[in-house]
Amino acid sequence: MIPGARLVLLGRQGAGKGTQCVRMARHYVVPHISTGDMLRMAVKEGTDFGRKAKEFMDAGELLPDDVMCGIVRERLAREDTTNRGYILDGFPRTVGQADELASIAREGGQPVDLVVDLEVPEDIVIQRISKRRMCVDCQTNYSVDSPPRYDWTCDNCGGEVLQRDDDTEEAIRHRLEIYSEQTSPLIEWYSERGLLVVVDGLGHPDDVTQRLIRDVDHRTRRIVG
Ligand code: ADP
Repeated sequence: MIPGARLVLLGRQGAGKGTQCVRMARHYVVPHISTGDMLRMAVKEGTDFGRKAKEFMDAGELLPDDVMCGIVRERLAREDTTNRGYILDGFPRTVGQADELASIAREGGQPVDLVVDLEVPEDIVIQRISKRRMCVDCQTNYSVDSPPRYDWTCDNCGGEVLQRDDDTEEAIRHRLEIYSEQTSPLIEWYSERGLLVVVDGLGHPDDVTQRLIRDVDHRTRRIVG
């Protein structure tokens, strides 16, 4: 893969974006930028913004585009991403956000190299989300099928591992509806621009990682020529 690549991961809630982005960021040595993790940090810090964000998140609603675009614009201006690139997880989620990302990229002369759609059918993600757990401190993902080693204590930082506040049945159903209506159009949007690769997200997480790295390497080398 080209050094300093800029990648975007799309995929339904529960498709495994968070888990796979952490692994890919480690493999490619680029920052993992997760808007969900950034918002959960703000919630944990208890800022006014965090309190407001929590209302949207618990209801399964998207935060307004202008708010999210401001956050991402600021993050992408930091030196680690301008030097090395990034893996974006959870942004863009609307066509308005994709337009904004394209503007940021144009202004900085740093176009997005590849957009991966991590594809997992809806019935499977619903099963996965009901089993998903997360460390309240470092936000490492776990599952009932793949728990931490000791009594729901995070392997990474020793934090408590719990179900997310927004993983209620109602909020999940609503987030999946919003995904179909507002985020899935981005698959065509990026495909028309020649930037999309679809990767099968089914199977063991290690197999999915191998598939992702293989396809990203293949496509980014193709872009480089
Ligand atoms: P999920 O993919 O399961 O919805 P995330 O951790 O990516 O979880 O996001 C959690 C919540 O944070 C979302 O439901 C939404 O309220 C908010 N959020 C994250 N990213 C965005 C975004 N790009 N635009 C609007 N809201 C966002």
